[in-house]
Amino acid sequence: MSPRSQTTRILAGLGAGAAAGLLLNAARRTGPGAAGWIDTWLVAGGVLDIVGRLFFSAIQMLVVPLVLVSLVCGVAGVGDLRRFGRIGGKVLGLYIATTAAAISLAIGLALVIRPGAGANGGAGAAAWQAPPAPPLADTLADLVPKNPVAAMAAGNMLQVIVFALLAGAALAVAGSRAAGLRTLLEQANTVMLEMVNLVMLTAPVGVFALIARVLAVQGVDVAGRLVLYMVTVLGALVIHVLVVYVGLLRGVGRLSPARFFRKLEPVMAVAFSTSSSNATLPVTLETVEHRMGVRGSIASFSLPLGATINMDGTAIMQGVAAVFIAQVYGVPLGLKDVVLVVLMATLASIGTAGVPGVGLVTLAMVLRQVGLPVEGIGLILGVDRLLDMTRTVVNVTGDAVVTAVVARAEGEMDLGRFNDDRPGPASPGKGQP
Ligand code: ASP
Repeated sequence: MSPRSQTTRILAGLGAGAAAGLLLNAARRTGPGAAGWIDTWLVAGGVLDIVGRLFFSAIQMLVVPLVLVSLVCGVAGVGDLRRFGRIGGKVLGLYIATTAAAISLAIGLALVIRPGAGANGGAGAAAWQAPPAPPLADTLADLVPKNPVAAMAAGNMLQVIVFALLAGAALAVAGSRAAGLRTLLEQANTVMLEMVNLVMLTAPVGVFALIARVLAVQGVDVAGRLVLYMVTVLGALVIHVLVVYVGLLRGVGRLSPARFFRKLEPVMAVAFSTSSSNATLPVTLETVEHRMGVRGSIASFSLPLGATINMDGTAIMQGVAAVFIAQVYGVPLGLKDVVLVVLMATLASIGTAGVPGVGLVTLAMVLRQVGLPVEGIGLILGVDRLLDMTRTVVNVTGDAVVTAVVARAEGEMDLGRFNDDRPGPASPGKGQP
């Protein structure tokens, strides 16, 4: 199936899922009978729940093996390891810079819009127990896995990346002595990508079920101050994409943003419906490498790293939430606090995997550091699921933008592939630079 028609089918699934979810939500409000039936047969443990979870698990199942083999093959294929290190440094630098820009923009916008001003203290905040976030020191010290199998089993992406980098470098050093293993891994990589293609055939249905279920439970009616909070977060997300990402694509990458976003549509749809950059990773990898033409060694390193450490959308939510909570509780925020929020939110996104709702956990850490009431999170809890979907789209978009821009600047991108709008081969190895 051509990528274009696949994208259309996924977007159709998304739209139909949203419509079905809203209808179900309206039906649930008509009375306890209808609500009970819908909950039992469709939502909680019902058909939508099962189908959605099946799709979510199917793409998640591919993450660790795909990242492992594609990164080992990618690094083994790099001619010059020092150059690879330099490119990695640029990717890391841009990830941190874009996150800092995102949160600064979010705080600026929240200070102008003042979504929490005039609210009556923390009244109405639901009880919120903050789960502990991992301290940064642990994240750094745990970068190297004691046991690579345990790291893979736990899905600890940073540890898997470290192990794969070393294995790939060793494979390159071993050269002809390990030629057989290298061929085997390259074939495994091909198989993994074909698995992604197969699973993505079910994406329209999976995306339909995930969205319909969320909207059936949540609805979209948000009252009062929370509307302003949501508008501020969504506004900052849109501005970040239009200014920072489009600016980077055009200015640094000299790439057409329209074509870039068109190619990214399926990735965005999966990110939106799963709320997980990690689970979206197989689709992001396939798209950036095989449909945009970024060299495998760069994409297979930069994208998994980004899914873990680069969360611009999450940082935006945290910036707005910190200002919102400060305003609601009447806590004045000085310049020092603002700088601290920027610093903490940037650091907080490092080392927390891109899974649904993790942004709230790290928000607790940010608030605690700045001395803001953590229970304020209870105020925004109700709308977080909806915002999680949109900020995850921005999180994965940021990973893809930085990867493409750095690859382009380093001459590691097949422009013919990027500019080719025809439905091209989506299988690995065909025409890679
Ligand atoms: N769901 C987001 C992601 O996976 C993280 C978050 O903000 O909660 O990227």
